[in-house]
Amino acid sequence: MQNMLKFGLKTLFLLVVLLGVGAIYSIDQSQTYGRLINYVGIVRGATQRLVKLELAQEPRDDLIAYLDGIQNELRTGEGPYGLIRPDDLEYSNNLSQLQRHWGTLKENILAARQDKTASAALLRASEDYFDLANKTVFAAESFAHKETSMLLRLIVLMAVFLLLTWLFILWAYGKKMLLLENLNKNLNDMADRDPLTGAYNLERFKREARKLIGTGESTRYAVAYADFADFKYINDVFGYEYGSTVLREYARIIGKELKENEIFSRVSADNFIILRRYEDKEELLARQQAVDADITDFMHKSRYKQTLPVCCGICCLEDAPGDLVIDNILDRANFARKTVKNGAHARYAFYDESIRDNLLEEKGLVSQMQEALNGGEFIIYYQPKVDLRTGAIACAEALVRWKKPDGRIIPPDRFIPVFEKNHLIAALDQYVFENVCRSLRRRLDEERPVLPVSVNISRLQFYEADFVAAYAAVKNRYRIPNGLLDLEFTESIACDNSELMTEIVKKLKQEGFSCSIDDFGKGYSSLSLLKSLPIDTLKIDRLFFIDGENKEKDAILVESIIGLVRKLHIQTVAEGVESPDQVAFLKSVHCDLVQGYIFFKPMPEQEYEAAVERERERERERERERERERETRRCPNLNRVAAARKANGISPLSKMPRRPVCRAALPPAARHDAD
Ligand code: C2E
Ligand code: CA
Ligand code: CA
Repeated sequence: MQNMLKFGLKTLFLLVVLLGVGAIYSIDQSQTYGRLINYVGIVRGATQRLVKLELAQEPRDDLIAYLDGIQNELRTGEGPYGLIRPDDLEYSNNLSQLQRHWGTLKENILAARQDKTASAALLRASEDYFDLANKTVFAAESFAHKETSMLLRLIVLMAVFLLLTWLFILWAYGKKMLLLENLNKNLNDMADRDPLTGAYNLERFKREARKLIGTGESTRYAVAYADFADFKYINDVFGYEYGSTVLREYARIIGKELKENEIFSRVSADNFIILRRYEDKEELLARQQAVDADITDFMHKSRYKQTLPVCCGICCLEDAPGDLVIDNILDRANFARKTVKNGAHARYAFYDESIRDNLLEEKGLVSQMQEALNGGEFIIYYQPKVDLRTGAIACAEALVRWKKPDGRIIPPDRFIPVFEKNHLIAALDQYVFENVCRSLRRRLDEERPVLPVSVNISRLQFYEADFVAAYAAVKNRYRIPNGLLDLEFTESIACDNSELMTEIVKKLKQEGFSCSIDDFGKGYSSLSLLKSLPIDTLKIDRLFFIDGENKEKDAILVESIIGLVRKLHIQTVAEGVESPDQVAFLKSVHCDLVQGYIFFKPMPEQEYEAAVERERERERERERERERERETRRCPNLNRVAAARKANGISPLSKMPRRPVCRAALPPAARHDAD
């Protein structure tokens, strides 16, 4: 195309030059022909005048000489008048005849000058001459006409060529522009697409969506926000290549199913958004389900024969009246998706008023948080963890609650995810941690029994540079002895960035904290992580203890996990244990601690402290019992006395009679008192 355009331009230039030259030449030629006709005309007219003057006895030799000059130039083509000798037979014949007659006419003039009777002959000769001159003028005119019309034809031809060349150039240029434009469009389009799937990127999707929903048919559009449940699992277990294949295929299936004026985009890793038109919601849902069934089928037929459900939130524009801002529509569809993201049953949700209410509630929680922190509305509950060997409370987990001024208690599941989403969780975690430290300090100062307490650390905090230093500073400010504070990190943080996690855990341990992995088994679990991660405790998620069809498999898994982890000298905690059978099972597989409703629910601080006191009392009692047993073994008499007391309904704890006393059973200091 480029070469054609160049060739066209060169031709155009040549034609313009030729046309210009041709035009100048033909103007010049027409002047020349005009002059020729003119001079032949002069020959005709001047000869008539000459004859007239000669007949009137006024001889004009100058006129004869002038006419001779012209005749001569007409014959030779050389002379002062710039006359040419046209290459034309008719003209040439006429001219040579004319010149011959000119000779005769001149003779007649000379004769008539000498003899007046020759005037008649002169007149006749002059008439003949006039006819001949006339013919010569016509011949010159006809020649000039022939020549100029040929030139004109040539010019017209060149002009036509010029026009054609010009049109060709225009066409070629237009085509080139079109090509460039298409290329540009393609490049722009590529920049607007996700390289993996070819789907629109989010920005492009929003641009196109704005155009589409702004066309007046807006109420009949809906956005679906689709997301694979736990896609990370696919990548981790089957590799990224297979993960990418699944995503590409999903994009292909969505794209194939789209109708006119519908678009889709891959928003992030495994999240897709689709803008569809619909007649009724059932049909809309069926379309999405068909797409998801296709990808499930694809996964099932792959060599891994494994499937992942797709969760999807759908926001119909008619359900968001008055709000056609695409970002808000996407938020709503996403919000609907979250309501089914980890749902056991439903995988599709339409955005509706209740979701809107949740959205509003979420906003409300966020806006009230700071005030609630200042006003001390967040209170800390403690849930004891019980040592399965002794049955005693070994430690506890601090769990936050939001106590509204009207006395309502909001559970953490309602506000923690909201705070996490809005990056507010760090302040709450630190508040809980500081309150736990304050309580421990108070009890230490009062010389009352204290047990280690775990606090939860949200994943966002983990990425803050001064996180360890900040927690250590609070611990030191309250002078909390090492070993009393444990920090729980969720399993997902550990898996996301194991190197950073290892580094942080090491630092925390240097600062006197112990560390736990929380919710182990909730997501995808990696036991290999534990070999490099110097944690103290592994908390097995309560999902393993929910009665279901996989109960037996869960038990096998729990037993294996505990067996492995024990070998790494990591303590195990079973969370969410609710039945005596589970306790018996956990004891049999040597689980260290149990945190579950079977023993204790999370409780307010005072209750927890009372439980710790009671525990201390029981511990003392157990200690006394053990002491007595030791004493009895040494003094069999005492055993008989104790048996007698029991038989008589006297408490073994009530004061013993002063005699008989077995001195060996008394501690050294007491032996003195006994004497
Ligand atoms: P988590 O860290 O896994 O805490 C254990 C949750 O399991 C607690 O729920 C507890 O009440 C519940 N649980 C314990 N035993 C049983 C049982 O036998 N059956 C059942 N059904 N549940 C049991 P809770 O207190 O509602 O806390 C929920 C989650 O909120 C916590 O899960 C934790 O992830 C988060 N959370 C609580 N407090 C904080 C905090 O201060 N900071 C952060 N970042 N997260 C917190
Ligand atoms: Ca926890
Ligand atoms: Ca947990």
